[in-house]
Amino acid sequence: MNFTSFHPTPRTLMGPGPSDVSPRVLSALSRPTIGHLDPEFVAMMDELKALLKYAFQTENELTMPVSAPGSAGMETCFVNLIEPGEKVIVCVNGVFGTRMVENVERIGATAIVVNDDWGKPVDLEKVKKAFSEHPDAACLAFVHAETSTGVLSDAKALCQIARDNGALSIVDAVTSLGGVELRVDDWGIDAVYSGSQKCLSCVPGISPVSFSPKAVEKLKGRKTKVPSWFLDQSLVMNYWGGEGKRTYHHTAPVNAMYALHESLLLLKQEGLENAWQRHKDQHELLKKGLTELGIEFIVDEAYRLPQLNTVVIPAGVDDAEVRGKLLNNYNLEIGAGLGIFAGKAWRIGLMGYAAREENVALCLTALKSALAK
Ligand SMILES: *Cc1c(COP(=O)(O)O)cnc(C)c1O
Repeated sequence: MNFTSFHPTPRTLMGPGPSDVSPRVLSALSRPTIGHLDPEFVAMMDELKALLKYAFQTENELTMPVSAPGSAGMETCFVNLIEPGEKVIVCVNGVFGTRMVENVERIGATAIVVNDDWGKPVDLEKVKKAFSEHPDAACLAFVHAETSTGVLSDAKALCQIARDNGALSIVDAVTSLGGVELRVDDWGIDAVYSGSQKCLSCVPGISPVSFSPKAVEKLKGRKTKVPSWFLDQSLVMNYWGGEGKRTYHHTAPVNAMYALHESLLLLKQEGLENAWQRHKDQHELLKKGLTELGIEFIVDEAYRLPQLNTVVIPAGVDDAEVRGKLLNNYNLEIGAGLGIFAGKAWRIGLMGYAAREENVALCLTALKSALAK
């Protein structure tokens, strides 16, 4: 074999993630690697944590990036906050809810599953009913923005229901952070995790998480050891923690942290509300163009995600062929349908740096041409 350096073709990423990475973030990634306990790195990490608090709209002290992708953020919340034998009400309205059920069961806890149709948000009444049937449930877990369907659920109302029933809340904000309104403290979210590669314009591989004081209290009062050494937040806290001397826990992915820092700085400079508005505006532009092409949305406007547009593949159109044309002729990636939407829907992402007018224009031009031939 003749090995050579890998030079990927630049693509425009308008799928369910990873999404387009800002050039500023890519440039940050290539800066010199320094030691992960170097005072300069430690100072950068303090800033990164402050920027994360801003992005999450929280004062939670335990707010930090897990050195692994969004799935590890999910696992971090479950392994730290749930003990064997406990009951967790898990809302399932897409792929990522089913993964939460997996997490709960692997811990040896019981998942009380509240099912909703794919393409629909979590039904508040069903969650209330589940709590009335299981008043001993320790926690409510749900996905704020279901990337498999493009649906937004009412995180504020769901966390209120959890609080009313004396339960903690675990919220998947992988696709919502930076893309739609998310207010961790105002909404009383106890544990939240996200991902770097969706609406943050960053490379994949890091998962920001935040625990409320109530969640930290639960962690500290555990009867059993956290079943994962790597994800045990009481250990990681000594590494990322603000006070005193930092002790080695694992080697942080140093350059990836520069990238996350830069992406959060971009968000801060733009302003969180402005970023939410930009995603909305680009969604409106895309919607107008798609409607002109005769392409319909699957999700009702009332709970549609601006950053993830699930649309019906027009009748008689070959799914793989069209996506192939977009990739080969336009270097444009859009997402295929997942689960029950496989072969029936496309998922067009407008996440982070991808939520720009030129991307919308490219996508519409490319789709028009691919559908015409
Ligand atoms: C992408 C995604 C995840 C998983 O993140 P990875 O970085 O792929 O591990 C979890 N939940 C939701 C809602 C997602 O969109």
